[in-house]
Amino acid sequence: EINICWLRRDLRVDDNAAIYHALKSEHPVMLLFIFDQTILEKLDNKQDARVNFLHQTLTELGNNLQKNQGTSILIKYGKPIEVWAELCENYQIKAVYANHDYEPDAIKRDAAISEQLQLKNIKFYSYKDQVIFEKNEITKSDGHPYTVFTPYYRQWQLKLNSFYSSAYPTERYFQNFWSTAPFPIPSLKEIGFEISTPQFPGKDFEDKLEGYEKSRDFPAADATSHIGIHLRFGTISIRKAVRAALEQKADKWLSELAWRDFYQMILWHFPQTAVRSFKPKYDHIQWRNRPEEFEAWCQGNTGYPLVDAGMRQLNATGYMHNRVRMVVASFLCKHLLIDWRWGEAYFAAKLLDYEMASNVGGWQWACGSGNDAAPYFRVFNPELQMKKFDPKLAYVDHWVPAYKQLKHVQPIVDHAFARERVLKAFKAALNE
Ligand code: FAD
Repeated sequence: EINICWLRRDLRVDDNAAIYHALKSEHPVMLLFIFDQTILEKLDNKQDARVNFLHQTLTELGNNLQKNQGTSILIKYGKPIEVWAELCENYQIKAVYANHDYEPDAIKRDAAISEQLQLKNIKFYSYKDQVIFEKNEITKSDGHPYTVFTPYYRQWQLKLNSFYSSAYPTERYFQNFWSTAPFPIPSLKEIGFEISTPQFPGKDFEDKLEGYEKSRDFPAADATSHIGIHLRFGTISIRKAVRAALEQKADKWLSELAWRDFYQMILWHFPQTAVRSFKPKYDHIQWRNRPEEFEAWCQGNTGYPLVDAGMRQLNATGYMHNRVRMVVASFLCKHLLIDWRWGEAYFAAKLLDYEMASNVGGWQWACGSGNDAAPYFRVFNPELQMKKFDPKLAYVDHWVPAYKQLKHVQPIVDHAFARERVLKAFKAALNE
């Protein structure tokens, strides 16, 4: 009999809660990853960089495990329910271990698999791994979830201690991996994708923390850690990131990691907010939703240099600086009166660090519809934002060189006009 540890968004063997608990049990542990057909079929871009990242990471992980531990990762492609049916036929499974995933579809998937396994008398164990505090670990005194970040973060900091931030010492039990020859890894082509060669951010983030607070808002400084993709797929443990922040007293950066926990908690408590406004009245806004304006925004052709620079950075690299994410998101919802869900979907398709909870959270914040959001009457002025955060136009110049040569397109809409228009539209919806 074996135990199976099902990896999903936790692609590392060090400091991994599910692997730790699986290895500590009596049975040898086989690692499994499923390329979920249902998710992959929805991705239009067959060169999707995230799929490439997953494939590359799993290949490396599998090779290292073979070399160092004499084990392997079984990598399957298919619908999880079908894959599990097949695994139950082929292996004597004692129990299945995994880490919690808080996205609505993942919760449904895990409930279905757990039920399927139960019918075969196989236990499904799941653990907190990808956040420091989850679900109901930090609540208001009446037990309700916080919906505002500041008081949440106060409790988060009070509760944080080495119990929550220390690593799971998986390496102590590595001898309990099941010894197997390497399993064949399906090629990208076999799972319906093609090789692309994007630049993935490295895993060294520690040297970014010192100057973070001072420089984080200036996109040209590129002073942030770029570990989003690693936290998304678990190639860096959140506990490692938190320990580094504490060691370096990088308070601001620590608070950003807590924002990530916060949004995961919000999505878990309010799964409907993945598609609906947290404040329901915002779903009454009469969006203009002009496809040609959306296209201009996507392509970085709005005539507002900071907005255009951000969108071009996103299209070229799969990354956009946080300050600029706020500006482009506000611009889409407020200047162009386009539904935040359109922008959220575009980011979801493009961002290497795409994370449903944070993306929905960020978009609803920018639109004003979120739980702890910018007030609706706060309309970022993209020109002023540029003057303040890119004063030498270094970022803009890099992504929109035509701007300095006065060859850039005319603004798609006048700022003062757009401001009046959005205030009217939002007021009409919110005062209903
Ligand atoms: P750093 O500034 O170095 O921060 C370190 C880590 O903290 C990040 O990697 C991320 O995991 C977390 N973090 C930082 N800021 C936030 C935040 N505001 N909310 C939640 N977590 C945060 N972040 C995503 O990880 N995925 C997304 O899909 C995403 N979409 C966004 C959409 C909009 C409209 C906005 C305004 C923000 C979005 N963010 C998202 C948050 C933030 O912009 C990115 O996390 C950050 O820019 C990633 O760069 P970094 O790794 O260098 O971050």
